[in-house]
Amino acid sequence: MISSPIASRSTSAAGNVDRPTVAVVGGGVIGLSAAWQLAESGCQVDLFDDQLGRGASHAAAGMLAPVSEAAYGEDDLLTVGLESARVWPDFAARLGHASGIDVGYRPAGSLLVGHDPQDAAALRRHAALLAGHGLAAEPLTSRATRALEPALSPRTTSGLLVPGDHSVENRSLLRALAVAAERAGAHLHPQRVAVEVQDGRAVGVRTTVGTRHVADTVVVAAGIASGEIPGLPRHAVPLVRPVKGQIIRLAGGAGLLTRTVRALVAGEPVYLVPRESGEIVVGATCEDVGLDGRVTAGATHALLRAAIIVVPEVAELELVESIARFRPTTPDNMPLIGTSCIDGLLLATGHYRGGILLAPVTARAVVDLVHRRPVDPSVEALSPQRFPSPAEVTS
Ligand SMILES: Cc1cc2nc3c(=O)[nH]c(=O)nc-3n(C[C@H](O)[C@H](O)[C@H](O)COP(=O)(O)OP(=O)(O)OC[C@H]3O[C@@H](n4cnc5c(N)ncnc54)[C@H](O)[C@@H]3O)c2cc1C
Repeated sequence: MISSPIASRSTSAAGNVDRPTVAVVGGGVIGLSAAWQLAESGCQVDLFDDQLGRGASHAAAGMLAPVSEAAYGEDDLLTVGLESARVWPDFAARLGHASGIDVGYRPAGSLLVGHDPQDAAALRRHAALLAGHGLAAEPLTSRATRALEPALSPRTTSGLLVPGDHSVENRSLLRALAVAAERAGAHLHPQRVAVEVQDGRAVGVRTTVGTRHVADTVVVAAGIASGEIPGLPRHAVPLVRPVKGQIIRLAGGAGLLTRTVRALVAGEPVYLVPRESGEIVVGATCEDVGLDGRVTAGATHALLRAAIIVVPEVAELELVESIARFRPTTPDNMPLIGTSCIDGLLLATGHYRGGILLAPVTARAVVDLVHRRPVDPSVEALSPQRFPSPAEVTS
């Protein structure tokens, strides 16, 4: 028989104003960042995840690339991405200090490269978009591009240097966040949970073995599973769906590249992200295939082929990992950060291709909301309330 003890911190119906209790559902980069910052802000934090750090955050390339990934019509995403990139150096330094783990923050910029006139035209269009936002980017000749990264193919004909985009080692980041969160007093529970809602208010979570944890606030940061968290009434379920990404890791590339290189190969984007360790991460596919988590020969082949076209010496490296995970995506590809239609329930999910980049601003917004402070203006456009709930649509 399943027992139903209340294993928890006590809380009043009105909430604990001095030391709010918070239950965080999900321990990817978003849930862990929020848990760490909430605990540091004085909250009593319980985080639940039976697969801590093994979701999308585990697969990510670790690029912090709002400028390279800027697109027409995505101004709100660019604004929040730039704000998060701005605070990343401080976040990385504080996290390194709090955890004793170096998260591999690498302020080296990105280099976008082209191989033919269409690519050159695409780089010119991107430079024009960036100039319109007042963002720095330097068009380069073929020679100047290869002078920056001599391992690039002799076929490289154009380049665009983006000094503002950096990278971080996402797996060190996850380890550091878990250590820092625990050191700040958060409790990490290796359990999957349902949200408990009573009288239209989130009151805590219940684990799969029936243990209840009451909390003043529940934060849903469950990646692609956010769209199917048990316990939420239908109208409160966030609109999150999976977009599959396959990505590979190569070893033995120390010194081959000094910064992230991005290219289009036969119209398909590919990126190569170098790490201090000599690892080079090559990604990634973007597949709308539901929850088919297979790593396919075709995707690994396509990524390797593209990477070798961009940097021929990649052919000599060791293939150490091919992996697939799902990016949590929303109908407008922007995250859901903020209050929901249920009292006491915050959402911090749907970060699609930018969860590593956006972790610092997301965590800061969650802390502000729990302490009932206004959120940074860059996050306001990401309020979950921008979507009508299913109940509103059908009524
Ligand atoms: C191939 C690939 C490359 C990427 N590259 C980059 C990049 O370079 N830069 C960047 O910024 N972003 C990148 N992303 C996107 C980024 O990885 C995601 O946006 C980010 O990881 C989302 O973090 P998350 O914490 O929301 O989700 P996740 O990391 O998926 O974590 C969600 C967690 O919730 C847990 N969970 C689910 N349901 C429950 C439940 N009921 N109870 C308890 N726990 C639960 C899961 O076990 C999981 O650990 C990439 C993604 C992919 C797939």
